[in-house]
Formats: sequence, C-alpha cells, structure tokens
Amino acid sequence: MRQGSAPQLVRCLRLVAPWYAVWLCGIGWEPAHAEERPVIDGAALERQLLDLGLVDAQRLVPTLMVELRYSTPDNFMHADAYGDFARCYLQPGVAKQLAAAAQALAQARPGTTLLAYDCVRPRRVQQIMWELVKGTPEQRYVASPKAGSIHNFGAAVDLTLADLHGQPLDMGSPYDFFGDAAEPRHEARLLATGHLNTEQLEHRKLLRRVMVGAGFHSIPNEWWHFDAYSRAAAKERFAIVE
Ligand SMILES: [Zn+2]
Repeated sequence: MRQGSAPQLVRCLRLVAPWYAVWLCGIGWEPAHAEERPVIDGAALERQLLDLGLVDAQRLVPTLMVELRYSTPDNFMHADAYGDFARCYLQPGVAKQLAAAAQALAQARPGTTLLAYDCVRPRRVQQIMWELVKGTPEQRYVASPKAGSIHNFGAAVDLTLADLHGQPLDMGSPYDFFGDAAEPRHEARLLATGHLNTEQLEHRKLLRRVMVGAGFHSIPNEWWHFDAYSRAAAKERFAIVE
C-alpha cells in the first residue's frame, strides 16, 4: 500500500484495528510523491489562524520554548501530522495567561522555563488522532473531533518544564504516554509504589502550580495538558480551527 497522505494512513489503520496498527502503518509515513499535499500547509494555516484572531504565543511569552511534537514523527502517531507548521498559536487571552505562568515560574524556579509540545490543533489533525485510537483503550486520551478538543479552539496547551537549554525536566513519564504513569489522579499511588519519585512529583506540582495560578485547569489523566476554558465556554467564545 502506498503511504503518504493522512487519508491513506487512516484507511490503513481501519483495516488493522489493534493498537499495534500504529506501528505497522505509522512507520515510514513520508510524502511518497511531491504532488501529494501534506496534511498541513504551514503558511496557509498561519494565515488562517491570524484571520481567526489567534496569536503566536512566543510574541507574548518570549521565554516560551516550542517543540511541537506533532510536527515531528516523535509522537504517538509516529507520523509528522503538522508538516512545516511549528509555531505555538493560541487565543490572545490564553497566551496572556501563559505569560503569567511563565513569569510565576521564573520567580519560583529561576533557570526553568515552559516548553510547549502542542497548542492550537486543527480539527483535521484531531480526526487523524481519533481514527488511530477509536475502539482502543487509548480512546479516553483523545477527544472526539465531533465535539472538538479544546486544542481545536486554541484554548488548551500541552507543555512541560525545561531548563534554559530546552532540556525537559523529568516528569516521570514521557509526553503523550498512555497509561497510569501519566495520570495526576494516580500520583499518590505511583509515589507510594516507587513508580514516581519525589523530584518528578515536585516538577509536576510546580508546573500545575504556575499554570493553575494563571487560570488554567489541569486534567486528571495527562500531566502535560492544561485548559484555559471548558469545552462549552470555548465553543461559546471561539471558532473551531478546521
Ligand atoms: Zn492536550
């Protein structure tokens, strides 16, 4: 089967439903032909985001580091879904909240900064993610594109703590790890059973403290994800980025 575009990837995964399908079909997902359009055209998406009133968060948060994992094959899809799009765009008010979090972090722990893994996420990418996890235990980690993820509104951010060289601090699980070790609701047990050490837990707590202090909400099953609004409130205020 020729691989190279998102619809092809999705069809492939529908044929082999179990989780290992991600590996079978994700590897080697590279544009096979120059004429095939990538999922995202970075310049076109940035124009679309600016038209919708979103902002490049680094303009408001100069210390923010950005490494969009979905713009590399280093993510749970094992595929580069963002192509040449590599900027962190958010709603202006959300970016302001992130600036407050960065400022609080710089005071609480000098030499530490925020490293964003994902910001606004177009719904067409959400659709690809959904197709990958639908019907698997991992489905609970990915919002259905029908209702939309809060990322689709530019009102959620995935991030971690990093040193000033961009080296992430140890949070006890990788980003997008699907399992208990990623879930704040299990932290007391993970600590008691030695699956999380005190330093890792302190890092998570510090990230939550500065983000929640800036008005974000953490969620029980991903230490890296923070919402600025509920889905209903985001839907009321903002358009979904298709
Ligand atoms: Zn997220």
